[in-house]
Amino acid sequence: MKNLRDLTYAELLDIIQELGEKPYRAEQLFGWIYKKLAPQIDSMTDISKALREKLKEGFYIAGSKVLDVKASPDGTQKFLSELEDGSRIESVIIPETGRLTLCVSTQAGCALGCKFCMTGKDGFTRNLTLSELVNQVISANEILGENGRITNIVLMGMGEPLNNYDNVLKFTQVLTDGKGFGFSHNRVTLSTSGVAPGIKRLGAESNVSLAVSLNATTDEVRDSLMPINKKYPLSKLMEALRAYPLKGKRHITIEYVLIKDVNDTIADAKRLAGLLRGIPCKINLIPFNPFPGSKFKRPENAPVMAFGKVLRDAGYMIMIRMSKGAEIEAACGQLRARYDSL
Ligand code: SAH
Ligand code: SF4
Repeated sequence: MKNLRDLTYAELLDIIQELGEKPYRAEQLFGWIYKKLAPQIDSMTDISKALREKLKEGFYIAGSKVLDVKASPDGTQKFLSELEDGSRIESVIIPETGRLTLCVSTQAGCALGCKFCMTGKDGFTRNLTLSELVNQVISANEILGENGRITNIVLMGMGEPLNNYDNVLKFTQVLTDGKGFGFSHNRVTLSTSGVAPGIKRLGAESNVSLAVSLNATTDEVRDSLMPINKKYPLSKLMEALRAYPLKGKRHITIEYVLIKDVNDTIADAKRLAGLLRGIPCKINLIPFNPFPGSKFKRPENAPVMAFGKVLRDAGYMIMIRMSKGAEIEAACGQLRARYDSL
């Protein structure tokens, strides 16, 4: 048995044709699954009883179980979902003027082990399936209820999206398909730690916005923070970014987590300005969010501002997420900070 929320339009079309049905039925079903969010096959009232029965022999529809929802004083809501095998993942709803963004997890855990990241420290369980990605959007809208609907999606929660490439690509297709969720391409952003071949593939096969977690300006520092840099060093990563087709989009988002005495000096800022020269980008500076057991520290506000000023003076568009400190629960604030001001 398979969850219908695991099917792309192309896969659904194949199934419908195998069942001897007309192709337009696939469009109708796709709409029921991803637009009208049918909770079960029998909710699809304009699909014949006979076809519904045939579908029920191989398919079902199921959401994920939301175990907990936590609201922060800044309006952010983090929710915890339990998957069929008992794995648990987090998603975050972030309200901003005129939009409601959902930060989606793409893996249970993450194998890449970045030293400043809580997800990375906890190790990797598995890739999320298409239905588990989709269900985060559906759960978020259920949590919001009368209070609105998700308008933007960032793949910036737990996990490395490009290491779950196939399901993530299908997810972006379902999200941006007018017959499905119908999000515009500009409202879906994928954040990667720098899987260079995945960036290249994504540029060729998708149209979503790209964010890259750079976090350092030399291979030495990046190697020490993000083990993936040993596989795809800065030269390879920058090459992939320079080649990324923007397809009408204005920029790539560069994320830079500022860590006290590690990557936050004026020299770093100047090197960053040089490294990014010629790439249409917006830089999101994120002061490190401390978590229990981490050896790193968040820089004071003054060095953060000074870092930002160097970049601004060099002509870059920058966003700084200043600390709201203790009033935000750490993990939630962490996810919130990741996303801020894309
Ligand atoms: N794996 C992907 C997407 C998830 S991580 C990636 O690395 O891009 C999303 C963002 O959170 C990254 O930019 C990462 O640098 C940032 N991040 C991780 N831990 C953080 C922390 N403790 N404080 C601030 N930002 C953090
Ligand atoms: Fe994984 Fe991203 Fe965390 Fe690195 S920063 S461990 S790639 S989730």
